[in-house]
Amino acid sequence: MKILVINAGSSSLKFTVFNFSWLGKQTVLASGQVECIGLLTASLIYTKTGKAKVKTEIPLNEERLLTKKYINHSEALKVVCDKLLNKDDGVITSINDILAIGHRVVHGGEKATRPVIIDEKIKELIVECTHLAPLHNPANLAGITACEETFPGVPNVAIFDTAFHQTMPPESYLYAIPYELYEKHGFRRYGFHGTSHHYVGKQTAKYLKVAFEELKLITCHLGNGCSMAAIDKGEVVETSMGMTPLEGLVMGTRCGDIDPAIPMALVNDCGMAPRDVDILLNKKSGLYGLAGIGTGDMRDVIQAAEKGNKQAEIAKNIFIRRIVKYIGAYYTMLGGSDAIVFTGGIGENSAPIRAGVVNMLEALGSCLDPAANQGCTGSAAVISTKDSKMKAIVMPTNEELMIATQSVELLLEEGKLKVVSV
Ligand code: ADP
Repeated sequence: MKILVINAGSSSLKFTVFNFSWLGKQTVLASGQVECIGLLTASLIYTKTGKAKVKTEIPLNEERLLTKKYINHSEALKVVCDKLLNKDDGVITSINDILAIGHRVVHGGEKATRPVIIDEKIKELIVECTHLAPLHNPANLAGITACEETFPGVPNVAIFDTAFHQTMPPESYLYAIPYELYEKHGFRRYGFHGTSHHYVGKQTAKYLKVAFEELKLITCHLGNGCSMAAIDKGEVVETSMGMTPLEGLVMGTRCGDIDPAIPMALVNDCGMAPRDVDILLNKKSGLYGLAGIGTGDMRDVIQAAEKGNKQAEIAKNIFIRRIVKYIGAYYTMLGGSDAIVFTGGIGENSAPIRAGVVNMLEALGSCLDPAANQGCTGSAAVISTKDSKMKAIVMPTNEELMIATQSVELLLEEGKLKVVSV
């Protein structure tokens, strides 16, 4: 059974084709992305499992160049389909081989609490939530429309980034601002990276051979964007990102928690335009803004710190300290925790960052096993000592697999999967 997963961004269309065997095994057949949608130089990056990654420019005819009608999401998907059908390195023989499509959708507001089969109402909901994710939701919708055109009759499922966090109580999701702003405009904490927190939570339970519903977990998704979640018996009770993905931890280029008076001071005292403040907080802050080395990439920050760059050292330490601060709060809210889980590019690969965090958790009963930590890159492992009361665990995330799995589960539940052609 072949399942397509689509993650459509404003200028990219990422895809993964999975094969789900009836023995419960899932394998990736091909993956890749179309880059620079809407720009002059769009290209397709494609990897068939077991073969080398190939990058091809998507040629434009003269008329398109003159009229600046560059490739859109729908055309990008057609390019992807042609590749998937290609005799030499394709993975399907007909578009009918794709039995279901799972879509990452960033914002589903309060109404989206679980995966849903996409119909007109769900598309309206995605539009309704556009003011909360103005860059992402329209792109996600463009990906959905493109799939409906190219794969007529194939069920599309939406997996919302915000859905897993919708179990939070009002005490956690409301801000201390006038209540009517929540009622009128939906100003509240929604949380993001939900698919990743859910996936690593469940995988950790499997790894520990304990039911997800019996665990108290603190999950740390540390990538370019960073967020944490406190999960009690399989349900989120707290998360660090807020109404937008700007709140919470220090990130690659985003500021995370700051005094809310700062944006106003930037406008009123520094004469900045609101739009520029938005850019400053989203694109020029975080590790990038603090370290001052022209990049927000953690590898570069660590390297600069190791070479004696004081500012980079402080940036790295603030990053660690903020995580520890949230762990302390979440540990208390949960009434203890079975494990701290690290995932995302930094969480899975950076031993020094994990060490920095876990070395500050002694009071909570977690002690680092330095050899286990050093030896772990991108694979599941326990990195705390055997007698630690609270374990520290590395668990690779796989949002695409979670989207595919949740799509299949929902469609089987609803009797909407055509299984005859498998
Ligand atoms: P995204 O959030 O865009 O999905 P990733 O989860 O891939 O991003 O994470 C990107 C981050 O992971 C970057 O800051 C990168 O520096 C960091 N990273 C990847 N590998 C390492 C490593 N070996 N050591 C430290 N940081 C790493």
